[in-house]
Amino acid sequence: MKPLVVAIVGAGPSGIYAAEALTSQSEVPVQVAVIDKLPVPFGLVRYGVAPDHPSIRSIRNTLERTLERDDVSFFGNVAIGRDLTVEELRSVTDAVIYAYGAASDRRLDVEGEDLAGSIAAPDLVAWYCGNPDVHPETSGAADHPHRRNPVEDLIIGARETVVVGAGNVALDVLRVLIKEAEELDETDMADEVLEVLGKKSVTDVHLLARRGPAYTAFTTKELREIAKIENVDLVLDPADFDLDEASKARITKDKVAARNVAAMQDWLDRPITGAPRRIHLHFWTRPVRILGTDRVEAVEIERTRLDDTGRVVAAGPLEPIAAQLVVRSVGYRGTALDGIPYDPNLGRVPHADGHVIRQDGFSPDEYVTGWIKRGPTGVIGTNKSDAVETVHSLLNDVSDEALVARHDIAELTSLLAERGIKPLDLPAWQRIDAAEMARGQSHGRDRTTIVHHSELLAAATDPD
Ligand code: NAP
Repeated sequence: MKPLVVAIVGAGPSGIYAAEALTSQSEVPVQVAVIDKLPVPFGLVRYGVAPDHPSIRSIRNTLERTLERDDVSFFGNVAIGRDLTVEELRSVTDAVIYAYGAASDRRLDVEGEDLAGSIAAPDLVAWYCGNPDVHPETSGAADHPHRRNPVEDLIIGARETVVVGAGNVALDVLRVLIKEAEELDETDMADEVLEVLGKKSVTDVHLLARRGPAYTAFTTKELREIAKIENVDLVLDPADFDLDEASKARITKDKVAARNVAAMQDWLDRPITGAPRRIHLHFWTRPVRILGTDRVEAVEIERTRLDDTGRVVAAGPLEPIAAQLVVRSVGYRGTALDGIPYDPNLGRVPHADGHVIRQDGFSPDEYVTGWIKRGPTGVIGTNKSDAVETVHSLLNDVSDEALVARHDIAELTSLLAERGIKPLDLPAWQRIDAAEMARGQSHGRDRTTIVHHSELLAAATDPD
């Protein structure tokens, strides 16, 4: 039986889990092309998971096993929309699965949001994880005259920082900002990222949660971690833990909420030691305006409460918190890609069970999985069941003969070659991998991330 050629756009966990779901069934033979605009695979496992979470980052070893299969090929450094249009990709493959994630940020919609010193968490995360898209070739050592990445100046200059949002990304950002750079030495962070972090002088991180302690989006393990950071005082307002009836009802129903509240209640008993750095958790608080002339100088905050419909509304006077850096960590957002249906209200590709819906009904050959399918929620493992659902829809269409194998993967390879595009394959990634490990080991670490496109391409080059 001729194999079905399936292109997956995005080599993050959602794309690779889709490849795994396609190749671990035996009903329909497949040839899978996993395409990514970056030279390297693994998406947010490499460029989103915090570098001080090595066990979560090591999921990439499992993902790599899927890319090693004979019926899976990796096409790195190929951008759909730039190198090939979606229509061209569809014309040389039998089916396409979009798994390109949600790379943009949600807006706060407050005055001053675009002042220098106000940055979106996804940009900061991409910077400290070493994503080449935010490390221009001229960035580098903190005193490099042509350094362009604005994040670097902002971090070096900030003492007081406000992080808006009460999710796991806010905790990741908070840890990176408040930890001593030496505490991050054992991670795989790039040397130039560590160098900038070594020059930071952050003393206070204020985390703003617009609802109460019973409503955070933290997972308890990640929350508890912040109490283990050394030389840091945790500052909480005991009044926030005088729970109202709705909060009490919530923790009765929701085990994670109950554990989170219990963890934070324990911290109320911790003495304030006069440590050199502080984490302040502000509940029932939201930013109203970011203040400053040329750059952020303070954040005006207000107290909040929930109205009868559960909406967050204003509940108190305005007051400023001094800050030189504001990190908006209120969620990621999917973006439109030319030629792919997109719902701007939801920031997702419209679908039913992963089968893409176009204006005139179901697309004959397009599917979607991961954050661009369901929104930026869940942990990495959530993408596995999500991919299984999408692949199930695709396989059903094969059973119904709505989807038929007509193409050969060589058509994709030839089209790219005609364009002069040289995809980076799995051996190319393995050479980058080896170069990163060698770079790290020469400094007594397991790995040092290579951040610049040119260096990644050089490391990928086969010496023969
Ligand atoms: P998230 O979990 O959706 O949290 C977003 C936070 O922003 C919520 O506290 C939300 O509050 C708040 N927020 C939203 N709009 C706001 C506004 N206009 N003003 C003030 N606050 C606002 O998003 P995330 O932290 O970006 O994480 C994305 C996903 O990745 C999550 O599923 C997360 O668990 C996962 N992740 C997991 C890990 C890990 O397992 N270690 C690490 C990082 C990320 P409301 O609840 O009031 O809306």
